[in-house]
Amino acid sequence: MPIRNNLYLFYKRTQEIEEQVQPLLKLANQNGFHLVTNVEEADIIASIGGDNAFLQATRKTGFREDCLYVGVNTDSLGFYTDFMIQDFDQMIQAMKNEEVEVRRYPILKVTVDQEHPFYCLNECSIRSNVIKTFVIDVLIDDFHFETFRGDGMIVSTPTGSTAYNMSVKGAVVDPTLPSLQVSEIASLNNNEYRTLGTSFLLGADRTLTLKVVQDGNDHPIIGVDNEALSIRHAKEIKLRLANKSIKVLKLKNNSFWQKVQRNFL
Ligand code: NAP
Ligand code: MN
Repeated sequence: MPIRNNLYLFYKRTQEIEEQVQPLLKLANQNGFHLVTNVEEADIIASIGGDNAFLQATRKTGFREDCLYVGVNTDSLGFYTDFMIQDFDQMIQAMKNEEVEVRRYPILKVTVDQEHPFYCLNECSIRSNVIKTFVIDVLIDDFHFETFRGDGMIVSTPTGSTAYNMSVKGAVVDPTLPSLQVSEIASLNNNEYRTLGTSFLLGADRTLTLKVVQDGNDHPIIGVDNEALSIRHAKEIKLRLANKSIKVLKLKNNSFWQKVQRNFL
């Protein structure tokens, strides 16, 4: 597998992580990798930390299609991290011996009020920022499907299905299935408001539109992965699978379902 070798390390500049990173730099250099400090020049972007660090690395570097992402964990193996920091030499050997593979992960494109889009790897969540419920009209393509009233909704990618989505009893979805999952957060169901009540999956060609009913009681907060958008008054949020994906370097013998088993069973 041809791996170009400009390596950029993405991590939180704390003294603790700096100390763990120093030996990696040496090892990487000895093995023909070229450390770059300008992320624009990177062919490989390695996040050092947990899934959280991986989410930040992809977001802050703009979900680049022209490079490989790899997650290196400092703590224990997660969903986006296939390698442990103390086994960095094994990671380099694995790359040399072609024991690694590249997997494409679908990402979500979020457009709020027709402004420039945001992308997410886990999910986009919209939820009430106050104690009150708020109301959302839910459209699938242009079809008005339901009117939701409650705390909010989560729209997750397949790889995000094991995160927030799972906490509200959404299904775990195989990342080889390009789809987005819509899950409710505490819907209020009565004779006036009724929603499906279960999560549902949409295929790659569908667009979900969430129209926030502007009734003066609407105070939604929009989250993209682990960041909140600084948008105060959202009216219409369009969500669909992006027509780009990210490439992630992973071990061959560490499938998504092995990760699910390791973490949950
Ligand atoms: P956090 O609240 O500190 O951590 C949430 C936990 O989710 C961490 O243990 C994190 O792993 C893990 N995680 C992240 N992505 C995952 C994935 N795809 N599958 C399984 N577990 C995953 O927040 P954070 O670390 O910044 O992560 C942001 C994510 O937290 C959001 O994208 C959302 O999915 C999730 N979240 C969950 C809830 C909930 O379950 N009630 C509420 C809000 C947000 P690491 O420790 O390795 O980072
Ligand atoms: Mn965390």
